Amino acid sequence: MVIQPKIRNNVCLTAHPVGCAYQVREQIDYVINRGRMPGPKSALIIGASNGYGLAARIVAAFGCSAATVGVSLEKPGTEKKTGTAGWHNNIAFEREVKEKNLPAWSVNGDGFSPEVKRKTIELIGNRVGEVDLVVYSIAAPRRIDPESGEIYSSAIKPIKHQFTSQAVDIQTGELSIVTAEPATRQEIEHTVKVMGGEDWFGWIHTMASASVLARNAITVAFSYIGPPLTAPIYRLGTIGKAKRDLELTAKRINREFTDRNVRALISVNKALVTRASAVIPGITLYISLLYRVMKQKGIHEGCIQQMYRLFRDYLYAPNPKPKDSDGRIRLDDLEMREDVQREVAQLWKQVNTQNIETLSDIKGFREEFLRHHGFGMRGVDYGEDVVVSRE
Ligand code: NAD
Repeated sequence: MVIQPKIRNNVCLTAHPVGCAYQVREQIDYVINRGRMPGPKSALIIGASNGYGLAARIVAAFGCSAATVGVSLEKPGTEKKTGTAGWHNNIAFEREVKEKNLPAWSVNGDGFSPEVKRKTIELIGNRVGEVDLVVYSIAAPRRIDPESGEIYSSAIKPIKHQFTSQAVDIQTGELSIVTAEPATRQEIEHTVKVMGGEDWFGWIHTMASASVLARNAITVAFSYIGPPLTAPIYRLGTIGKAKRDLELTAKRINREFTDRNVRALISVNKALVTRASAVIPGITLYISLLYRVMKQKGIHEGCIQQMYRLFRDYLYAPNPKPKDSDGRIRLDDLEMREDVQREVAQLWKQVNTQNIETLSDIKGFREEFLRHHGFGMRGVDYGEDVVVSRE
């Protein structure tokens, strides 16, 4: 089939297998060009097919020669559908590791479920013995309770008060005013169930019980804070509650697995275009303005640069950089710089549908969003018929 982008409400419904392979290759090249560095011998990445998880897997494999096991939930192609970007990223990653003789295995399925945990743990036990790094990078809209069968759906909403913000249509650049109603108590609880720390703890607990977690293992999960501009919808909203729960879970893991000396860390990452962040109202405009300011200052980073810095400066550094007063790694240090935030806030007040293409980097947002789905990659012939893998 000939594959073109099909975008509805900031969600891209198609993905290009060849373009996905190119963008995986680009990330691998970034890491290989920087040479080898210390790191894990073997790593499990939960949420490995896209965004931060994929980048972490690439750094572990190509930067540190680690054996990697990746868990993700992706869809293959069908006669009519292209399959998801993550599906094609996984295939591309596997092809690349094979060429370099790096051991890697992927599990496709619901990481929240006991079956996928069991399958992954079995695979680790049989193939690598144990892992010394667990990266938890799931961004999911829902989770099914294994015991009750109840479906929890996450809702990105403010708490207590309405939140009115400017939202931008990535394709047209049109700004509109969007009001999000405050979340119900159930929506808050469900978002914490999906995006909080319970499942991360579940993975660590199950892995430790099955003896596939090495002594002195490190586990890291990703959080976000952001500026006052987005606080009502993010840090003070439902997702912020979930992130606080995730952050507390790190402390719980550190308390409960002292016999194995497991070290749980939170890394507060930079706001970036990914499939997950493109659908949060207000965040798309914020990222478009942030990209412009950070690119102008020469301090812009993508997922791969962030994950490279995480391994090099924090997880495996002989003298790790200091953490914040809550013990969190702050990869958002450049985003949160006073001069950056001041300029973003100024642009936020001036931007409108007429000037968005010049005042913001919506062009860069659009291009990156498309690249995440394999589009706009130099060297790919998008008029060509491609075969999508179905298994
Ligand atoms: P993403 O959408 O790019 O990737 C999400 C990954 O989760 C994919 O590999 C997907 O297959 C996997 N996944 C989803 N549901 C799953 C399930 N049920 N079982 C197994 N795998 C599943 O997301 P991302 O933006 O890279 O986010 C990863 C983490 O980083 C999240 O915790 C997010 O909150 C955090 N974070 C993101 C940003 C940002 O701006 N994107 C900033 C800071 C922190």
